[in-house]
Amino acid sequence: MKRPPHTDTEPRALAAALSSALPTNALKLGADIEERYRHDILRAKTAAPGILVRPATTAELSLAMRLCAEHRAVVVPFGGNTGFCGGSMTDDSGAQVLISLERMNQVRDIDPLNNTMTVEAGCILADLQERAAQANRLFPLSHGGEGSAQIGGCLSTNAGGNAVLRFGMARDLVLGLEVVLPDGRVLDALRGLRKDNAGYDLKQLFLGTEGTLGIITAAVLKLFPRARRRETALLAVPDVGRAVATLAFLRERLGEVITACELIPALGLDLSLEAINETRRPFAQRHDWHVLIEAETSSVHFALRDALEEALEEAVTSGLVIDAVLAESDADRTGLWKIREGIALAAVGDPSSLKNDQSVPCSSIERFVAEGDRAVRAVVPGARAVPFGHIGDGNIHFNVWRPTDMDAGAFVAHWPDLVRALEDVAMGLNGSIAAEHGIGSSKRAALGRVRDPVAVDLMRSVKRALDPDGRLNPGKVVP
Ligand SMILES: Cc1cc2nc3c(=O)[nH]c(=O)nc-3n(C[C@H](O)[C@H](O)[C@H](O)COP(=O)(O)OP(=O)(O)OC[C@H]3O[C@@H](n4cnc5c(N)ncnc54)[C@H](O)[C@@H]3O)c2cc1C
Repeated sequence: MKRPPHTDTEPRALAAALSSALPTNALKLGADIEERYRHDILRAKTAAPGILVRPATTAELSLAMRLCAEHRAVVVPFGGNTGFCGGSMTDDSGAQVLISLERMNQVRDIDPLNNTMTVEAGCILADLQERAAQANRLFPLSHGGEGSAQIGGCLSTNAGGNAVLRFGMARDLVLGLEVVLPDGRVLDALRGLRKDNAGYDLKQLFLGTEGTLGIITAAVLKLFPRARRRETALLAVPDVGRAVATLAFLRERLGEVITACELIPALGLDLSLEAINETRRPFAQRHDWHVLIEAETSSVHFALRDALEEALEEAVTSGLVIDAVLAESDADRTGLWKIREGIALAAVGDPSSLKNDQSVPCSSIERFVAEGDRAVRAVVPGARAVPFGHIGDGNIHFNVWRPTDMDAGAFVAHWPDLVRALEDVAMGLNGSIAAEHGIGSSKRAALGRVRDPVAVDLMRSVKRALDPDGRLNPGKVVP
């Protein structure tokens, strides 16, 4: 008969086994575990891990996982803890084991001829971008959490971010993977091949599955030629329809060089400027909608600035764009991106603001914003919609701020109805309830509601096949 996972509130026997098997600095117990492992970034979920394991090598993690399996302990992987869905939180029992990858932070190899980089899961995303740049290469995954998010967390959530329209999601940037399985075995699929049809592509089981099937310890990532020319511009546009049309127009004119295209509403701009303490406004006049656009090329033979200016002139003449500010320096570029990222920071800074992560086909963005706005105000009259984000992949973060005269608690009580209303709008447009942040524990029930029952059944079968005792990150993702 299958034994259930361990639920003792004092996992002493496991702690003793781990402390005799692992170096002292790889282990912390109970009250010694610091505060930062006990809540998520939004402080929406709390946790009480009984044991914290911080392996420095794949072998140490494999050994720890084998001992956890013997003791039937529940294990939760923990990366940079920037996720928005509570995926890296243990429960409050004090019985679960938290595995932090932070000490596995080595770049094992950079191969410029193969355009690959082999890295450990605990490397910080921004550091990897920097390491690639030092090798005259680009690692294009980029998002607002990159200063703390680990590559293991990014891969296990299949993070998206700002350059998806050109380079794809995190999944598209991976060639090989090393994974420790729930029973401690190591899957070594660390190959840097662009063509490898030798059997099932098993790495896909661990990309975007949020640590429910295995713990990623290392990855071979794709690199690209480094950008030699880059242009960034903030555009004022009359409405969302023309924001979407502007991207299509610029892609027709400039081709694949467009890397990012972000929607910023007027209220999003205000909240951002406040959050980042910026007093200068990008435009003298107030506009309802803005688009942050970035184009880059590794070719010095492409006169990118001229091409962009010419296209923007045409866009202004045809009424797609009202006004444009082009970055003249790296400092200008950073300033424009700070405005974009400031919207997410403002949301993190106001715990009562509702964060959302739906996606729809790009051709339905305009309807999503209009219908979402109506749906939100039907639930909470006066609620302030801040739909912003990635136009190029249809991932609009439909954040909602409370009415100015409503207190935080009263607004938070409406969250479930607001989320449900927005999910219904997205699903009605053939969209998704989770574009890039994942499911974690917060959206698990919703996944069961909207996903085809056959798909849910298959997810459960895969989970049972890899984690038959249900010990790895239980209560996350799979409905
Ligand atoms: C300001 C801000 C802006 C953001 N913008 C974006 C954005 O534009 N696009 C986007 O996609 N995300 C964004 N995020 C969300 C977040 O940064 C990503 O989800 C990130 O990829 C999570 O990485 P992490 O290391 O913090 O993982 P964590 O939050 O620690 O964990 C996330 C999940 O992955 C699992 N996990 C962690 N490490 C591993 C591992 N090695 N093996 C297996 N499972 C593991 C955890 O158990 C959990 O389920 C943003 C976050 C912030 C704070």
